[in-house]
Amino acid sequence: MSEKRLTAGAIKELARRIGAGGGGVEIIGIANIERFAEAPERMHPANIFPDCRSVISIVQPIPRSTYRGITEGTHWNNYTYYSYNRLNTVFRPMLTEEISRFIEEHGYEAVPVYPGVPESYPNNPNPIPGRPSPDINLNVRIAAMACGLGEIGWSKVFLHPTYGPRVRIGNILTDAVLEPDPLLKPGTLCKRCMKCVPDCPGNAIPGKNGPSIKIRIEGQEYEWGDVNMGRCTATHHGINYKASPFLKKYFPGFNLEITESTMSEELAYKITHSLGLANWYRQNPEFPGTAANPYIKQIAAHCGYLAVCGAKGCIRSCMEFQEKIHNIAQDNFKTPVFPGPHWELCPPKDDPTGGIVEKKALTELYQEPDRDAGQW
Ligand code: SF4
Ligand code: SF4
Repeated sequence: MSEKRLTAGAIKELARRIGAGGGGVEIIGIANIERFAEAPERMHPANIFPDCRSVISIVQPIPRSTYRGITEGTHWNNYTYYSYNRLNTVFRPMLTEEISRFIEEHGYEAVPVYPGVPESYPNNPNPIPGRPSPDINLNVRIAAMACGLGEIGWSKVFLHPTYGPRVRIGNILTDAVLEPDPLLKPGTLCKRCMKCVPDCPGNAIPGKNGPSIKIRIEGQEYEWGDVNMGRCTATHHGINYKASPFLKKYFPGFNLEITESTMSEELAYKITHSLGLANWYRQNPEFPGTAANPYIKQIAAHCGYLAVCGAKGCIRSCMEFQEKIHNIAQDNFKTPVFPGPHWELCPPKDDPTGGIVEKKALTELYQEPDRDAGQW
């Protein structure tokens, strides 16, 4: 095959054409490998692809309207499907895959990176001498920032100049030397309004003087809040009574105060996924079957995952702020992000339907088991 010239401009032109409905928005950013000089060993692109010379980040917007059901407190599946799981695992990778093939057509390697969570893999003994312990993964938000595509806000969510906090990120590592994009100046997008802090139902985002993470890329310092991932994970995956009506409905009396919890992220995952996916032997009148939490189980079965918080503070409140001050390009929606008052569920002790209920109330919520029918 004859060699074709590959430029950053050609890749971006393709991306503008195929990304976000061909809307012409810049959805690609490029970094040279040198910008990752201070990346930890197990997050360094060269430990996945040693010949890597350039890192490409691609964003795919989250459709704003997919949050509406949760904002109304009436519908949850849309968020998990279109904003989260399927967006990350199906829709967005289609862009990454097409751009990878385009780069390969020019004779360069293009390693598409699955966006795993680097911190979740234990540092196992090194199975191959001289190589870092698997699994190596990029921190996709830091990579996107190093590619000049935006910046990480105080909430730890990546902010994009057009879509604000409404993006998912993909990466490609290539041996092509491509012109890097300039870095965004810290503070361009995150204005430290701190609206994400009180609006997070998990109390997971620290206040202004709380703990933070700082990194340097090409001499510029970026800082964001050190989010409490135990509280966020517990809320996001449905065991915070403030954000999950399904917890209240199917686990009445479960009054764990997540906003003060010190549980680790791993423990929060263990509890939320075990409870969300568990089976139980009694049947529930509304959702036939034996799921312990039928609504959560239904979301997981249909959408491939379970997400309940809907990023109320870190995405929706930030989005409201960014649109109001016209800090992002896509700010012209007719309906506000929160068209009505915010909803939040009251503590179990004040709630006769979700509190520590008496036996009488429990029997109203659940069918009495029919021992003769063999349900025990
Ligand atoms: S709401 Fe957004 S802009 Fe405001 S502090 Fe949080 S991340 Fe920054
Ligand atoms: S996902 Fe929910 S709990 Fe987690 S930081 Fe965002 S608003 Fe807070």
